[in-house]
Amino acid sequence: MPPPKMSKTTPWSVAADWALLLTLLLTVSIMVLCSRICTTTPMASGESPVAMMPDGSYTLDGGEFDPVVGSVQWKGVARECGWPFPILRQAIPITASWTLDDPPETVASRTVPADHPLAAAIDRELSERTLPDWYTTSIRTHGDQVGDSVLLWTNAIFSLGLIWLVLYAIARIPMVFLRAGLMMRRRIVTGVETRRDRSGRCLQCGYNLNGLEMAERCPECGALLW
Ligand SMILES: [Zn+2]
Repeated sequence: MPPPKMSKTTPWSVAADWALLLTLLLTVSIMVLCSRICTTTPMASGESPVAMMPDGSYTLDGGEFDPVVGSVQWKGVARECGWPFPILRQAIPITASWTLDDPPETVASRTVPADHPLAAAIDRELSERTLPDWYTTSIRTHGDQVGDSVLLWTNAIFSLGLIWLVLYAIARIPMVFLRAGLMMRRRIVTGVETRRDRSGRCLQCGYNLNGLEMAERCPECGALLW
């Protein structure tokens, strides 16, 4: 019995196609679940005295202007979600702790309201820094609101490719072993049958059929002999 030739329609290629499809579905599910795993990335921060400019607005360019009317400590972060690469990104509004003398105001770590005079001062400070455009644009557009989630296509494709590759490789391992096992078994069975046939024994059970050339069935196991 010659081994069956590999073609496009063997059960193995069908199983491989299914493995490909199922691991893709699993990959997408994993990516959706992992989009809830988020990290925050610091974008910009600062700590400086707050000075009042001649027009009454605040500035963080301490020293250049007088009088100093308080101090502020601020930071801006972005949230990135997804695994193994971040696939969603959004800008989080600037938070700050500040103390102002006139009117007296002490605030501990909170979002700077868009209409607060400090917001304009921090915005000017942001524009002097080298920051990614998407971040400054989002902060300017959304003020004290959380920015829109942006899908990072390249990272999404890399994440999908990586997870899919690993899952598919894992799915193929048992298939490869199963196939190797079956081929080995077939080779052993074929070898046993050849030996039994040469020595005039039943292919099924190995019963000695010498002298029973005219028998239709094996007297031992009942297998059809011809
Ligand atoms: Zn037999």
